[in-house]
Amino acid sequence: MLRVPHVTLHRPNALDLALETLAAEPGAGVIAGGTDLVPALKYGLCRPEALVALSGLPLGGIEPTGSAWRLGAGTTLWKLERWAAPGALGVVPRAAALVAVPPVRSRATLGGNLCLDTRCGFLNQTAFWRSGRPACFKAGGEVCHVVPGGAKCHACHQSDLAPALVALGATVLLRTARGERILPLEDLYTGRGDVPLGLHPGELLCSVEIPTPGVPSGAAYQKLRVRRGMDFPAVSAAVYVEQDPAGVCRGARVVLGAVASLPLRVPEAEALLEGSTLEPAVLDAAAAACVAAARPVKNVDLTPAYRKKMAGVLFRRAAREAWEGC
Ligand SMILES: Cc1cc2nc3c(=O)[nH]c(=O)nc-3n(C[C@H](O)[C@H](O)[C@H](O)COP(=O)(O)OP(=O)(O)OC[C@H]3O[C@@H](n4cnc5c(N)ncnc54)[C@H](O)[C@@H]3O)c2cc1C
Ligand code: SF4
Repeated sequence: MLRVPHVTLHRPNALDLALETLAAEPGAGVIAGGTDLVPALKYGLCRPEALVALSGLPLGGIEPTGSAWRLGAGTTLWKLERWAAPGALGVVPRAAALVAVPPVRSRATLGGNLCLDTRCGFLNQTAFWRSGRPACFKAGGEVCHVVPGGAKCHACHQSDLAPALVALGATVLLRTARGERILPLEDLYTGRGDVPLGLHPGELLCSVEIPTPGVPSGAAYQKLRVRRGMDFPAVSAAVYVEQDPAGVCRGARVVLGAVASLPLRVPEAEALLEGSTLEPAVLDAAAAACVAAARPVKNVDLTPAYRKKMAGVLFRRAAREAWEGC
């Protein structure tokens, strides 16, 4: 049986206290729902000197702020999937409902989902299993077992909510003991498999803000997984579109999931959709752009060739659904 190694757990009941603890203990990590971090601790994938629990902090909640909706990082996915979100924002509860299984979603948080570590079939294994090979880049070594001869880590970004929220143009509020910053969610991701997040030391993701679209708009998220009941995405696609009064697409965001080390925007597909009515020829060309942009490697379920092809299929389904939702 795998055990969680001993680690000091701080349980602050105020955000300032949590931030001060993180500033005072540079080797400390944070734990929200623990649905991803606890398995990682058991597998020895991370060794924080201490953990700061976020469960006692007032980080939950979903509220309108005038021109946007603010979602607290501590909001559980269980609560998120029950959110009666207006219009295009309905893609958020629908994507939340596709994460894992109900018992996991009852603990898992939005912040944990957006800060999810990248995954790889050669790393997300027990220490015993991994001991049969030299350590790879992400484990501090100098090889990659997925791309032999490669110069970097290609671990896969498999969050379900990140592509949907990037497609909606969400921003995140990040705080440390010394201050705060707001940045587009897509800028949180570095694209590096071994260090996927651009968080500063001691920084917490506190909330997500989604602008309320001012024009007819629609959004959709499509996910392919091996077992419909509970798996991470093997590939996914999120599409957001805006329609002008003449029925022409005046803005689009296309984001692929699980085919890179970050949620992957596809600007070529977005440019094709803009100014069109999403007629079949445009969808064909944009789907081809998605297939070209997707560069999956063999480190999660299903073959890279199949996932690459399905990036186009899922894009097309998501684009049609989003357009019909306008
Ligand atoms: C069986 C199973 C199936 C799963 N299937 C899916 C799936 O289909 N799709 C999917 O997306 N995920 C899946 N997951 C992963 C995970 O359950 C979810 O991503 C979940 O939302 C993580 O949230 P959490 O609160 O449990 O995060 P935690 O496990 O507590 O934390 C995850 C990471 O985020 C960091 N973190 C958490 N909150 C913050 C914050 N506010 N600021 C800064 N850093 C933070 C932690 O330090 C840690 O590194 C699955 C997990 C399991 C066990
Ligand atoms: S992609 Fe390569 S370097 Fe990254 S975790 Fe997998 S085996 Fe390790």
